[in-house]
Amino acid sequence: MSEATTAVFGRDRIQYKTHEQILAMRRAGLVVANALDAVREAVKPGVTTADLDEVADRTIRAAGAIPSFKGYYGFPASLCVSVNAEVVHGIPGKAVISEGDLVSIDCGAILDGWHGDSAFSMVVPGGDSVRAVEDQALIDTTEAAMWSGIAALKVGGRLGDVGAAIEDRVGGRFGILEDYVGHGIGTEMHMAPEVLNYRTRDRGPKVRAGLCVAVEPMLVAGSIETTVLGDDWTVVTNDGKRAAHWEHTVAVTEDGVWVLTARDGGQAALAALGATVTPLA
Ligand code: MG
Ligand code: MG
Repeated sequence: MSEATTAVFGRDRIQYKTHEQILAMRRAGLVVANALDAVREAVKPGVTTADLDEVADRTIRAAGAIPSFKGYYGFPASLCVSVNAEVVHGIPGKAVISEGDLVSIDCGAILDGWHGDSAFSMVVPGGDSVRAVEDQALIDTTEAAMWSGIAALKVGGRLGDVGAAIEDRVGGRFGILEDYVGHGIGTEMHMAPEVLNYRTRDRGPKVRAGLCVAVEPMLVAGSIETTVLGDDWTVVTNDGKRAAHWEHTVAVTEDGVWVLTARDGGQAALAALGATVTPLA
């Protein structure tokens, strides 16, 4: 899940984690990775968004973890499924997935009191091929921007470097949502600090070892103006244009970054960006 922003870096106390705590968060992160893999496999024309929620819920609970979204401020499901013009926080239900849909899946889990939070977007094969190319460009840019943001995280840097890197990678080709942002994560899903997806004059707090954040750019093909539907959750673009969302939970250590919700810790994607990626020992 993403956090509604106050558009300033929060000055609340940041929870810096010890090495042992990061190892615990890695275990939670891998539960989320497994759940998202299972859901990705299940995304097919004809399934309902509630079916996908069931897959995530089952996978998380089978790992001995708890779905963090369920009951979060009353959210009724274990997964957010946001389709086409829905940006984030879509509630699973009777809606049926169709060929050519742009589907964004967001999942969170708690294991031994520690949170993981991750999301991806995909196009359901078989739809209009021109639209699929456009949608895939939106999705690929969102994912690339997320990795650039993660690569900007390093001890001694500033948290605002993340948003600057995301904005630079997007290069004005798509709109970057400002109403929802990434966040600190640890013993709660949403904690200080906010992680903005764009450049601001305030470069934000210094990045210190033990910082754990969810980096999650949300990009739109049109205007960044959004509305929350009457279900109090689903965020949609006002112009009906499509949106994409990618997210990973990342730990910063003295030795580099490690992506807790990526099976390889982010090594493959981050190697090309010159980031120092160091497996947790
Ligand atoms: Mg999040
Ligand atoms: Mg999320």
